[in-house]
Amino acid sequence: MKEQQTLVLIKPDGLVKSLTGNILTELSDVDIIITGAKIVQVTRELAEEHYNHLKEEKFFDELIKYVMGEYHTRRVLALVYHGTDTIGKVRRVIGETNPEEAEPTTIRGKYGRITKSGVFENVVHASENEKEAEREIKLWFRPEELVHNIYPTESKDVTKTEFFWKEKK
Ligand code: UDP
Ligand code: MG
Repeated sequence: MKEQQTLVLIKPDGLVKSLTGNILTELSDVDIIITGAKIVQVTRELAEEHYNHLKEEKFFDELIKYVMGEYHTRRVLALVYHGTDTIGKVRRVIGETNPEEAEPTTIRGKYGRITKSGVFENVVHASENEKEAEREIKLWFRPEELVHNIYPTESKDVTKTEFFWKEKK
């Protein structure tokens, strides 16, 4: 039993199919909590970094287009979950990578499909292990965007431009 964090992405097909509510409900049944959430417009740079371990695969280009939303909508919902054995719990709820092989009761088994070009449109992403979870959470989120975090942080003085809502005259 281990305290863990994991990154979950509701991919563009999940958003277009209006599955957000169902997916959040399924994930709320396994006693883990959301510690970060945001809608992200995925750049090519972010997509390629996220899936850099699959660079050599023949489906890589299609996968990048898919996660950037070229076939659905240019958005993903990025979430960080925290709790005991979170990584395994979430992977069990979402099911196998290939939606045809996923148990029909899992999210991917229920809602995923394989496209004509062979990409698994499997609705959600979830980190595979602790090392990947740390890499992925640090790629998608800044420390102050998480309400609770198990990775060490440090403060740095930076000069930056910030945006504010324009005041009405
Ligand atoms: N993928 C695919 N075909 C494959 C393997 C993977 O289209 O043969 C896609 C699928 O969308 C998957 C993603 O690439 O979710 C990342 O693959 P990975 O092996 O990391 O699977 P996951 O961790 O998502 O189960
Ligand atoms: Mg993976």
